[in-house]
Amino acid sequence: MGPIIDVDLDAIVHNYLAFADAVQVPVLSVVKADAYGHGALPVARAVTQAGCGWLGVVDISEALALRAGGVTDARILTWMHSPATDWAMAFDADIDIAVSTIEQLSLVERAATKFCGKGTRAPRVHLKLDTGLGRNGATAKTWRALIAQAAEADRAGVLRVCGLMSHLSGTGAAEDLQQGKQFAAARELAQEAGLHIEHAHIAATAGAMKYPQMRHDLVRLGISLYGLAPEESGAADALKLRPALRLRAPIRRFDNRWAVAVGEGDGLPPLVSALPPLVDSQGTYWKIDRMGPLHLYLSPMGDVPVDESAATAAPARELVVIGHDRNQDGELVGADADDWARAGGTINYEITTRLTRRILRDYGGHTAAEGTNIAWPPMEESEQRSKRSITAPLREAVIDLELLQRRLTRLTQRSLAVGAQRRSAEFGVDVSSDAYGHGLDQILPYVRSSGLPIVARTRTDMDALERRGVTGHYFPDAPSATRGVYGLDPREPLPPTLSLVSELVSVKRVSAGQRVSYGYEWTASKSTTLGLVPLGYADALPRSAFGKAQVTVAGWPAPIVGRIAMDQVVVDLGDRECWPGMRVQVWGSAGNDLSLSQWATWTGWSPEALCANLGSRVERRYRGRQVMVEVK
Ligand SMILES: *Cc1c(COP(=O)(O)O)cnc(C)c1O
Repeated sequence: MGPIIDVDLDAIVHNYLAFADAVQVPVLSVVKADAYGHGALPVARAVTQAGCGWLGVVDISEALALRAGGVTDARILTWMHSPATDWAMAFDADIDIAVSTIEQLSLVERAATKFCGKGTRAPRVHLKLDTGLGRNGATAKTWRALIAQAAEADRAGVLRVCGLMSHLSGTGAAEDLQQGKQFAAARELAQEAGLHIEHAHIAATAGAMKYPQMRHDLVRLGISLYGLAPEESGAADALKLRPALRLRAPIRRFDNRWAVAVGEGDGLPPLVSALPPLVDSQGTYWKIDRMGPLHLYLSPMGDVPVDESAATAAPARELVVIGHDRNQDGELVGADADDWARAGGTINYEITTRLTRRILRDYGGHTAAEGTNIAWPPMEESEQRSKRSITAPLREAVIDLELLQRRLTRLTQRSLAVGAQRRSAEFGVDVSSDAYGHGLDQILPYVRSSGLPIVARTRTDMDALERRGVTGHYFPDAPSATRGVYGLDPREPLPPTLSLVSELVSVKRVSAGQRVSYGYEWTASKSTTLGLVPLGYADALPRSAFGKAQVTVAGWPAPIVGRIAMDQVVVDLGDRECWPGMRVQVWGSAGNDLSLSQWATWTGWSPEALCANLGSRVERRYRGRQVMVEVK
């Protein structure tokens, strides 16, 4: 058995009902980013069965996955789109689309005109307004024109403009209330233009709890659906929230050390301060000595008999890595998502959301058939991807198989040169963590044909090899040289075989004084152009990159400005001419780009963890696969 995430769907339903009861307006359950790591489909089913009529996700591909999974009777709202989007797919699946610019509205209109020709109902649109957050959404200057054009499309029966939405910065009451005022004014503009807005919504969890006047017709419930409170909202106590996620893992021993096989590569943040002691299934406390890419190394606080067989047999003790328990004295022990957030210098959102899909989710038999997902990306994933590429913004891990092949050849030659007796696992290729985000199924044929030993650092990775009929070497402490073929050996830094690319989904010109993202931590010192990149900490970019990192747009560096959110970041493009759909290079490139190691420096996450940890919305694309010749 490997690590397991228990998801308590009863807790999620409880949290939904408690919140709905407190706010007294319809609630939209936000299940983006795989329901903050809890599993979008089981969560969506649980809340809709409990009466929730609205779901929210970022992009159309996330919405289509819910429809495909049988969530047919709830409204599903999406709010971030590539300029290349195939809108008809959203119309067909009856998905509500939030549009952020006049250009986007025009694209949707054009697609809807064609679509309505088929005699179907007009697609439903919400207008997304930027009331100050400086991110997605139409800037105030364009509201009148946007609303006028939307009203015309509505009158013509091409679109049904039913919603108006915005999002708060959460900087403080004064700032939030100012945004609320702007939003109320926009609602009046819409009414004057003849629009019948049924669903105006601006508040997420924190806003809905703090400002009753901002609940309007709908509130968007994210973090507290999962039993966690946004900072300083008081939601946890007021609603008696129940955290819904628990991570446990068997304790193993190797090389005279204790460890559990979860680490940074699985999404746990590098620790910047101490974590409370963790507790195992027999009540013993453990202190964390060190976090590795794929392991947490531990020492028992008390005597634990050393059972050497535990290294190979099913171990007797399981550590609760995330989750509180009560001890005999009734005290809370262990570390929950809030403790992890404090120790990792981040917020609880990032803790649950980053937990990799490779860890098995267990829904306690509640939804046995669909709930227990497979611990590995299913084989037919590539088929789903081609569909997704036109329904989601570009978030792509480009994997250079030709480069990998060349490095494998060189390593084979080197290993032959030192002689057969040295051809131990040290000269192997580490394929742990889905080959560090490269995709095990794509990488394995190359490694197998090289004849080099295949190395895996955890039992879960060994199981994945076994399921594919491949013999691997179990080597928890495999040296970094075994990851050299990917460019992930810090002692021999080479360009990574995996580069991360994205696109600008929106571009706007702003004046000096424009503030950006949660907490308004960045203010434009002069007029400039800002671009929105659809990658956040759910996908790839740790929050700790804030204030340091940059990306490359058309060959130019563009600093990330404002806090990194779950689904997006804003970049400062200066005075350069940029447009939506323009490519964004995050790390790696065809050239000699070592920026993955820069990302490691900026964030404190190791390069291998950054690759292993790419979220499920990031698609993989392979370059140069035709050079592959499989040798049996
Ligand atoms: C993520 C998100 C939410 C949910 O926010 P919480 O703070 O988790 O409640 C609501 N609205 C939008 C637009 C979001 O992106």
